[in-house]
Amino acid sequence: METKRFDLRGKRPLIISGPCSAETEEQTLETCRRLAASGTVDVLRAGIWKPRTKPGSFEGIGLPGLSWMAEIKRETGLPIAVEVANAKHVESALEFGVDLLWIGARTTGNPFSVQDVADALRGVDVTVLVKNPMNPDIDLWTGAVQRLQKVGVEQVGLIHRGFSSFGLSKYRNNPMWPLAIEMKMRMPEIPIIGDPSHITGKRELLKEVAQQCADLNYDGLIMESHICPDKAWSDAAQQVVPEELAELVRGIVWRKSQADKPEFQMSLDKLRSQIDQYDAELFMLLSKRMAVAEKIGEIKRDNEVMILQSARWDDIVKRVLAMAEELKLSREFLNILLNSIHMESINRQNQVMNTKK
Ligand code: PEP
Ligand code: MN
Repeated sequence: METKRFDLRGKRPLIISGPCSAETEEQTLETCRRLAASGTVDVLRAGIWKPRTKPGSFEGIGLPGLSWMAEIKRETGLPIAVEVANAKHVESALEFGVDLLWIGARTTGNPFSVQDVADALRGVDVTVLVKNPMNPDIDLWTGAVQRLQKVGVEQVGLIHRGFSSFGLSKYRNNPMWPLAIEMKMRMPEIPIIGDPSHITGKRELLKEVAQQCADLNYDGLIMESHICPDKAWSDAAQQVVPEELAELVRGIVWRKSQADKPEFQMSLDKLRSQIDQYDAELFMLLSKRMAVAEKIGEIKRDNEVMILQSARWDDIVKRVLAMAEELKLSREFLNILLNSIHMESINRQNQVMNTKK
């Protein structure tokens, strides 16, 4: 079947929604029908082949799901999107008239698989979205985009779905916003879509993360929806019914990147000059602090005392975190900042102590 290229820049914000997985004909059609009826969704999605972390989970319905998606496309007139992980998936998706393909996070991390998908797309005019890899490696993410561009895919976009991390976190996948911002700087011509469903892993947090994507100038959102979220065969906790999804989408404010009012520009310039001034003071102080750390390095070296002094470090962390409220700075932010300062201080002492005089 001839695939017409879907224009990723055709509408901003671009809203993609549908179930995590196509499970049954009724669930797929009903979810997509209700999303289409809400008028808030531009593209319908469903996972057909599911890469699961552990064996024994539902691994996707396969080809029947593609025919349900093709049916919903005929019925609603909306374009459809599915995940592909190899050449065979690409071939089947194109046969069923899929408009947008996406490469999942587990696949982006594997250059062999990305190349397999790219090779199957040589000379095919279809739109492809590339999810960030599971690990925070933006070279791999960039590389996947480049592999597609090299075979001639012109419409390529990014999906930011967060990065897997170890330990307790409020999110299922750590958004690591600075990495996505870096990707926007690296590839300013490539649209970026936020995936609050996979970042948060829970429906209660969808709204705040979706709004954050909008405020970071993303080009759209991809969010999962299901007619009975709690009964979903995959990603149950992060799905919402179509009407709730529509409500959520309507509630997001998409602000503009600039305002022409001269008063706005004047106030902004004034505040920015304050920021520049404080930055200058802040970094001057940091520089002085590091110079003292070097002096400490010298006396530790001369007295054969080791760099890391856990008790002293523990004191500093406790003292600074105790000031969090008074400073109106979050403990999380202070913690990250303290760790960077400490690491730089250790590096500087290391240089002093372990390079020959
Ligand atoms: C999905 O979109 O359902 C999916 C499997 O996502 P990810 O590749 O981000 O885990
Ligand atoms: Mn999912």
